[in-house]
Amino acid sequence: MKTVYADNNATTRVAPEVVEAMLPYFSDLYGNPSSMHLFGGQVEKQVIEAREKVAQLINCDPSEIIFTSCGTESDSTAIKGTLGSYPEKKHMVTTRVEHPAVLNLCRHLTKNGYALSELTVDSQGNLVLDEVPEAITDNTAIVSIMYANNETGVIFPIEEVGALIKSKGAVFHTDAVQAVGKIPLDMSKSTIDLLSISGHKLHAPKGIGALYIRKGTKLTPFILGGHQEKGRRAGTENVPYIIGLGKAAELAYKHMDDENTRVKALRDRLEKEIIKRCSDTRVNGDTSNRLPNTTNISFEFVEGESILLLLSDQGIAASSGSACTSGSLEPSHVLRAMGIPFTFVHGSLRLSLSRYNTEEEIDYIIEHIPPIITRLREISPFGKSA
Ligand code: PLP
Repeated sequence: MKTVYADNNATTRVAPEVVEAMLPYFSDLYGNPSSMHLFGGQVEKQVIEAREKVAQLINCDPSEIIFTSCGTESDSTAIKGTLGSYPEKKHMVTTRVEHPAVLNLCRHLTKNGYALSELTVDSQGNLVLDEVPEAITDNTAIVSIMYANNETGVIFPIEEVGALIKSKGAVFHTDAVQAVGKIPLDMSKSTIDLLSISGHKLHAPKGIGALYIRKGTKLTPFILGGHQEKGRRAGTENVPYIIGLGKAAELAYKHMDDENTRVKALRDRLEKEIIKRCSDTRVNGDTSNRLPNTTNISFEFVEGESILLLLSDQGIAASSGSACTSGSLEPSHVLRAMGIPFTFVHGSLRLSLSRYNTEEEIDYIIEHIPPIITRLREISPFGKSA
């Protein structure tokens, strides 16, 4: 069966060059980078290079990058590490549309004596900027605001927010897991103190991430133990995966223009054709301010999960805004925060592309979605057709 992978915000294919770069570190190059002998020295050099490549992707100094196990660990390190460094401050600010890696952690911390302010978004998924200055007080330790939303792709005005945060003296963390590798980021011109990266969103494997820590930022380590990562993250380095992330960062840097031209054009055509061919649809999120690879489309009177299953039957992998939790359909917290009408929230479909998608694959998706929507509407109690 033909397969088309259009769920790249969930995870990405590991680039063949990344696999190739990693392989020797599972066989001959198995040294521990901390070891003084030649086995250690060989790999230590390559870990240094991988750190340089990750740093290049976001234009920071390599010493400002630590490797972690995933985006979630980077988020937890940033948030818990900052709270640990400012024990007198008991307040956090985040947004209602964060990934659970940030939102669930912050909400959990409210059970441990911390107060939390959650900023809202408008109907386009854009951050309501006016709320930022009011939300930050002298008691605010950290403001954690995602760079780009994983469901809609909407990009937040991070530097504008950063300027407001800096004037109040809080630490600024951004979960940039969906942005890194898709849009250019430049830490040398930024107000960001801490930035989370996840390897498997940019064609490295699952199980590797990184955290940018601006020089001078106070951060209590999340994992204590050995001296690795200059004492900022203990544990023997996951060398093959670090090499993989370095290679993926190098490739993302090289392919950045392609992502923002060819991939964007594929996404735009896909979205336009679906909207043209299916009635009662809407695009969720500000279309003028999005990641180049993401579209989130709602089909009224249809269940997103049903679309996914029928698409999967045709070999097409996508994602819906809802998560089926313990038998009940939980609508997307992001779309609900945007105030999307109930009849649309349940019928949302996220298609997220990568540099591996082709024109022919886009044609295949365009061909298969309208009949699926027609079929589902025919059996829906509303009896609508595409
Ligand atoms: N933050 C965002 C915005 C994400 O989209 C994801 C993964 O979907 C994460 C954090 C978690 O990253 P990881 O899967 O590497 O833990």
